[in-house]
Amino acid sequence: MSNESLANLLKEERRFAPPAELAAGANVTAAAYAQASEDRLGFWAEQARRLSWAVEPTETLDWSNPPFAKWFADGRLNVAYNCVDRHVEAGLGDRVAIHFEGEPGDGRSITYAQLKDEVSRAANALLELGVTKGDRVAIYLPMIPEAVVAMLACARIGATHSVVFGGFSADAVASRIQDARARLVITADGGYRRGKPSALKPAIDEALTKVDGVEHVLVVRRTGQDTPFTEGRDVWWHEITERQSAEHTPQPHEAEHPLFILYTSGTTGKPKGILHTSGGYLTQAAYTHHAVFDLKPATDVYWCTADIGWVTGHSYIVYGPLANGATQVIYEGTPDTPHQGRFWEIVQKYGVTILYTAPTAIRTFMKWGDDIPAKFDLSSLRVLGSVGEPINPEAWVWYREHIGAGRAPIVDTWWQTETGAIMISPLPGVTETKPGSAQRALPGIAATVVDDEAREVPNGSGGYLVLTEPWPSMLRTIWGDDQRYIDTYWSRFQGRYFAGDGAKKDEDGDIWLLGRVDDVMLVSGHNISTTEVESALVGHPAVAESAVVGATDATTGQAIVAFVILRGTATETPELVEELRAHVGRTLGPIAKPKQIKVVGELPKTRSGKIMRRLLRDIAEGREIGDTTTLADSTVMSLIQSQLPPTG
Ligand code: ATP
Ligand code: MG
Repeated sequence: MSNESLANLLKEERRFAPPAELAAGANVTAAAYAQASEDRLGFWAEQARRLSWAVEPTETLDWSNPPFAKWFADGRLNVAYNCVDRHVEAGLGDRVAIHFEGEPGDGRSITYAQLKDEVSRAANALLELGVTKGDRVAIYLPMIPEAVVAMLACARIGATHSVVFGGFSADAVASRIQDARARLVITADGGYRRGKPSALKPAIDEALTKVDGVEHVLVVRRTGQDTPFTEGRDVWWHEITERQSAEHTPQPHEAEHPLFILYTSGTTGKPKGILHTSGGYLTQAAYTHHAVFDLKPATDVYWCTADIGWVTGHSYIVYGPLANGATQVIYEGTPDTPHQGRFWEIVQKYGVTILYTAPTAIRTFMKWGDDIPAKFDLSSLRVLGSVGEPINPEAWVWYREHIGAGRAPIVDTWWQTETGAIMISPLPGVTETKPGSAQRALPGIAATVVDDEAREVPNGSGGYLVLTEPWPSMLRTIWGDDQRYIDTYWSRFQGRYFAGDGAKKDEDGDIWLLGRVDDVMLVSGHNISTTEVESALVGHPAVAESAVVGATDATTGQAIVAFVILRGTATETPELVEELRAHVGRTLGPIAKPKQIKVVGELPKTRSGKIMRRLLRDIAEGREIGDTTTLADSTVMSLIQSQLPPTG
């Protein structure tokens, strides 16, 4: 990126105050910002007391060897005990922890007391299979309750889990098993996707021909489909757990004991094994879930639609909500099975009050049409969340109007696998929200935007998003590669964590995320963010989705190339393409007008729904396509290529 700051093009004037009733009873008020800035470590020490510690920590942060942090280092706790047992001990055993909704329409509700038994049995089963504290366990499961149980069982005995998306290929699984040197793999015969059983176990069998060190494969029976079984190695989950005792006494582990490894989604390159530990991670996951979603555990029904294989599933399906004693919905399948109203049917069925989903899903619902959610009773919803990508203002406003009845506040939460928990977000009872802005670092978090020379930019300017103080749920390292940890995150700006994202501060000092800095375009000497051009395109009634890249150009340095998916009602004509270019010019200025607009049927996305712009850049520049192993659908790239004439 050049010295010049990012072009600050988008003007968004809409403002939405929190509903009075929500503000009056909010878990967190504006006072939290002041309290945390006066005594940041004291604030986090207080948040750590949300947890139940076997040995209370006396030390909050040890930053004597930066960038290697230790939080609450002399404390000891058991993460699974905090997520399950202590709620049962507090008399809440009959509260539903999980309403499971299977894709075929089956389901079950699991109370905290039942969850405690299931986790204890699974922990005993892991011990029987020889797994001990410090071992790594790979988990490759569909979105079923056993995924949660498996993670908590590992946490309980001090085994470090590495969850791998159920949609990844055998190669992607193999490289993750290898990197973490997992001793056990937990998988299922299959899961339901798009109305039919989809096998999982064969990918593990294939992966295990490429790596060694895995002693056993624990197999959950979900679909009942025919499944190859290797005698001596493979064990049915139901067989081994049924014969275990439902009693297991959790031992406390060190606060810095490794809880999990999770590989990033690979949007920017080879996935990194991000290591998270126990006490600090759980503290921030629990606090942010309480603060950002205003969770009232006795009355709320919370639903996060993320996959468990994504960090959002870790922090906001498993650890945050369960540490807080929440009642939540877990849904196995896709949003259009058996019909495009499935999500809204689920909201209505369980009376969901808090919904946490991704911009990619919201844009899809917009594409499908307003009439679909309108058929369901969504009046229970009181807080709406978004995560994963910048949310385009038009999608934000649609979410608020059509899902939130023009009333529910939207929390646009910025964070990463590396940050472990939410870092920048509005607070639903405090913040006057702005469509498309994550706005402000949470209490206890220090974030800002800097220029090339690491100087904080003034309000109204753009640059690089950095975190200026360590935080409890920060990654501790990249698994097995401390040097890569230092180089990737702590070397660009001395003493500061560089997130890899571009951002701007508006006149009020609120933060707007502008996408990856690798994606920022340099056109005729101006830095232009892909996000802003995409938002302008999505603001046109003919466009459902768009992805914008900068392609090398002899005259302008980079030229803006836009890939767009049209809404069902629009058809591609030269006039429409010209109209879209003009629309961007009117919205953002002539400099941001795409040189080319390519109409496509699909965009390359990761399993977590993020657009992989680097692959589109490969197309736009006529290069061979890079690593596609983390794509949700690996056929998408050839499909897009077949729809386009080659470019130079
Ligand atoms: P890799 O690091 O391998 O490229 P990834 O960054 O896609 O993968 P994640 O950790 O899942 O993997 O994603 C974090 C990134 O997602 C952030 O750095 C940011 O670019 C984007 N992001 C997440 N939430 C938001 C949000 N609310 N607004 C804008 N961007 C967001
Ligand atoms: Mg990343």
